[in-house]
Amino acid sequence: MQFPIDKFQHLRTPFYYYDTALLDQTLNAIRQQLLPNYHVHYAIKACTHPEVLRHIQESGLGADCVSGGEIEVCLRAGFPAGKIAFAGVGKSDWEIELALQTDIFCFNVESIPELEVINQLAKKHGKVARVAFRINPNVGAHTHEYTTTGRAENKFGIAMEDMVGTIQRCQAMSNVECIGLHFHIGSQILDMEDFSTLCLRINELQEVLESYRIVLPHINVGGGLGIDYEDPDLHPLPNLEAYFSTFKRYLQLRPGQQLHFELGRAIVGQCGSLISRVLYIKQGAVKQFVIIDAGMTDLIRPALYGASHKIQNLSSQEGSEVYDVVGPICESSDVFAKDCPLPLTTRGHLIALRSAGAYGQIMASQYNCRTLPLGYTSESL
Ligand SMILES: *Cc1c(COP(=O)(O)O)cnc(C)c1O
Repeated sequence: MQFPIDKFQHLRTPFYYYDTALLDQTLNAIRQQLLPNYHVHYAIKACTHPEVLRHIQESGLGADCVSGGEIEVCLRAGFPAGKIAFAGVGKSDWEIELALQTDIFCFNVESIPELEVINQLAKKHGKVARVAFRINPNVGAHTHEYTTTGRAENKFGIAMEDMVGTIQRCQAMSNVECIGLHFHIGSQILDMEDFSTLCLRINELQEVLESYRIVLPHINVGGGLGIDYEDPDLHPLPNLEAYFSTFKRYLQLRPGQQLHFELGRAIVGQCGSLISRVLYIKQGAVKQFVIIDAGMTDLIRPALYGASHKIQNLSSQEGSEVYDVVGPICESSDVFAKDCPLPLTTRGHLIALRSAGAYGQIMASQYNCRTLPLGYTSESL
């Protein structure tokens, strides 16, 4: 990726930089993989930068929301309500009412108590809510403990065994209509076998449902496709061909069934970088530290999940040293990388933390009374 370093010089650091050309390239590559009955919803919790949202919305994707606030942001960004899915284990009444009033595409329901409340509120507003059940397929995604969501012990979804009973309960209610099944097994998944296993589980489940004469028009397989954090320049795009072909090959859809995907990281991860300035080089007893002006408040993934982002010195390629790259926050977990090989780095150099487009800026906090980082796009600079 080429960075407009001259334009960076007078900006206050740290800030996020989004390369919209790469974003568009990713969106085009996704479009090329889609069959007529495939629908992609962007998981907007990954990044809500307005310009990023505009590109995604204009490319024709729908949205996947996990809160009322996200539904509001999507509608404001121009996503049609009919393309919004709403997931989450703890939907508040006002969030459900907002979704009912704006007539979104579908609620992804995670429990019977939630279904009852949706039915009640829909009745109050004279609506029929379209719902899909989020099923926990007990597929262990080979990813971090905190980013796997489809295993039996996770809080997400309804167990496979309770599926038929839940759909029958739903069919007996007056103001909800069950239109589909929803799955989401985790995030940053690079092993396509996790997705092919998911497909086989869905196939089994569809057969069970058919024996009860239940055929639902929509299958939603969630998101989770991972990106290359180690070498973003080698793989600026996620492996979309492998991902979509796994579903084309293994998932047995019934005639007319629509297939939905909810991708977040795969769409925006690689186009974003966190740009920071070096404050000090500190010689410790056993380590050399590069202290930068970005911290875990700006990019929490390393502290939260032990994630690692490629670190690039944008100001110099000369020399080679090994550093721990750390932020200014008063927490020992405020470390971006240990024993990281970098060119000889000095105060004032610009540093890029790569692949930070997803779950970066959106997770920023004001801990230590810091200012939230701004976000610029390649077009806006
Ligand atoms: C977070 C989330 C996604 C997107 O996950 P990615 O790993 O970013 O693709 C999709 N669906 C649901 C229900 C989610 O919570």
